[in-house]
Amino acid sequence: MSTIPETFGSLVFDDKVMRSRLSGEVYHSLKETIRRGKRLDLSVANAVADAMCAWAVENGATHFTHWFQPLTGITAEKHESFLSPAPDGHVIMKFSGKELIQGEPDASSFPSGGLRATFEARGYTAWDPTSYAFIKEKTLCIPTAFCSYGGEALDKKTPLLRSMEALDRQALRVLRLFGNTEVQRVVTNVGPEQEYFLVDREMYLKRRDLVYTGRTLFGAKPPKGQELEDHYFGAIKPRVKAFMEELDEELWKLGVSAKTEHNEVAPGQHELAPIYTVANVAADQNQLTMEIMKKLARRHGLMCLLHEKPFALVNGSGKHNNWSMATDTGLNLLSPGDTPYENAQFLLFLVAVIKAVDEYQGLLRLSVATAGNDHRLGANEAPPAVISIFLGDELTAVLDAIETDSPYAGSEKRKLRLGADVLPRFNRDTTDRNRTSPFAFTGNKFEFRMVGSSDSISCANIMLNAAVAEALRQFADELEAAGEDFEDRLHALIRENIKAHKRILFNGNGYDESWIREATEERGLLNLRTTPEALQMALVPENMEMLQRHGIFTEAELLSRYEISMENYVRTVRIEALTMLDMARTEILPAVLRYTGELSRELNEKKKAAPALSFRAEGRLLEKLSALSDKIDLAIGALGEAIDSRADEDMTAQAFFIRDELLEKMAALRALCDEAETLTARNYWPFPSYGDLLFGA
Ligand code: ADP
Ligand code: MG
Repeated sequence: MSTIPETFGSLVFDDKVMRSRLSGEVYHSLKETIRRGKRLDLSVANAVADAMCAWAVENGATHFTHWFQPLTGITAEKHESFLSPAPDGHVIMKFSGKELIQGEPDASSFPSGGLRATFEARGYTAWDPTSYAFIKEKTLCIPTAFCSYGGEALDKKTPLLRSMEALDRQALRVLRLFGNTEVQRVVTNVGPEQEYFLVDREMYLKRRDLVYTGRTLFGAKPPKGQELEDHYFGAIKPRVKAFMEELDEELWKLGVSAKTEHNEVAPGQHELAPIYTVANVAADQNQLTMEIMKKLARRHGLMCLLHEKPFALVNGSGKHNNWSMATDTGLNLLSPGDTPYENAQFLLFLVAVIKAVDEYQGLLRLSVATAGNDHRLGANEAPPAVISIFLGDELTAVLDAIETDSPYAGSEKRKLRLGADVLPRFNRDTTDRNRTSPFAFTGNKFEFRMVGSSDSISCANIMLNAAVAEALRQFADELEAAGEDFEDRLHALIRENIKAHKRILFNGNGYDESWIREATEERGLLNLRTTPEALQMALVPENMEMLQRHGIFTEAELLSRYEISMENYVRTVRIEALTMLDMARTEILPAVLRYTGELSRELNEKKKAAPALSFRAEGRLLEKLSALSDKIDLAIGALGEAIDSRADEDMTAQAFFIRDELLEKMAALRALCDEAETLTARNYWPFPSYGDLLFGA
């Protein structure tokens, strides 16, 4: 058996492989491209393609694909074989630099929000050399960006790369002002913690709601929920363990440094955290991780649910996006330094994030808005839809002291002089206590906890990078103009920004009703509870201008994404509503009617056999269920009528209609069916109950 260090990354065309298989010259030019985003010339691409092909074939690959992330939210690939006819009639395995650099998938089936229609019908994929190629199911996968021929981004990677460049540009300006001439590049690092549920595959297949929508649309509360978890999941625990072991192995081979762990929150829920890496690579690896989770679960008789809210009444799943900025010289810009000067720099970057999150709350909220995530954010679950930042007591005290120019009550009581005093190290233990905060400082990084479990992390990081780039741009403008007065201006800038943006800081309990009131009424923070509202933030002029200023989205790209996101919302909920109708009509109502039929037949027989008795229990139950059946039938009718009643209006109107009316009708139908479930004999119920799903058969 080979050891983990041997197998780690064995299916990745990574630095080690490149070094051993490329000539020194080719290797260095490729590294330059990767490090500085330099253009790659075709002769280098040819050499890389040759080496990649040979390596991939040796490792069992027969095909290659440009692997990309269209706006559907999942990854796409179109496999092509390496086979190429040789002059002697045989075939050879071949792969050219051109095929490596650029591909042309049949793009017509991917959403473009009208972009391709207005410019050019085709789209092309372009190699992202900063994310390593890898082998998956005998296919060499080449991470690529996906654009239209007019240059518009049709994917999630392109704007992410642009946002990373924007942040790099502005952060470098700031670092230069601090006299740092060594740093060449500032990168954003991300470590996404992925939550997911595992359920038994047999049971899953019996529930059309899970099959069609990834979540349960019906299900009465079981007598036991997540409050107790003594021996939950006993039946499938060994399978879960085997799944996790294999998951780790597969991911390690693909160079994903995963650590799977049990998560004790809800029955059947687990978490996987990789070691952080550069944002675009983290985004690619997270997509890959989700794909492999789903594939492997099936192999173990399980199904992996990545939906944000597979079960009502049980905690949903999210993705904690751990985010930081670091230099190519290894300095984490969100880590307090050892010298007073580094501390001032740390504080400036910290304040930039605070300003960014406050000014662009709307964009951050928008970046995580999906129909699925609406069941977490804004429902009664962590985190709330209101964005605030948790800094912890220590750091809050430091900022307070700076803002009010008063003594810092840390260890010794004295005034904190920026550029002269050293800050205390902020201990992770004291910064990571608040689990309810949507955006928490955890010692040397921020953890953005609003991302949905099934969503790509790209959007969240695009908006975060963009907003921070904008704050840094404003700081750099001011400080560059300060000249000799750099130190004074720096101090003032930090102080002014703390004052201006401290409304976004909140260390308390984010679940509290009183916080939501305070946040919205006193502090004026946004509370965008649903996707249609959140998506409107893309149309706010200041937001659009900022994203365009940094070259992250063009106006056309923004508008197309707005359309696509609205459409996604509408389609998702519509499929849910149709699935509910289908289940209620063809499974639930027939089951209840069959049971009441049986009850009434029995009642008649009993009455015949014993006319003196009244059989009140049977009578009452029959009456209740019969009344419920009537109501269910009416609710089905109401939902069925509503579902397409606005289909000829624009997407925005449809989305708001869904939010305001359709979801209510769905909830009404569910409530009635769930009540019927509690009154119907178990063996009549047409699909596995919550108890079955969550606690095993
Ligand atoms: P643990 O839960 O083991 O204590 P953390 O909570 O520190 O680990 O880390 C959770 C996630 O945050 C991991 O994916 C980790 O790699 C990532 N992470 C740690 N440091 C950073 C950083 N500086 N920037 C971005 N992500 C980070
Ligand atoms: Mg954590």
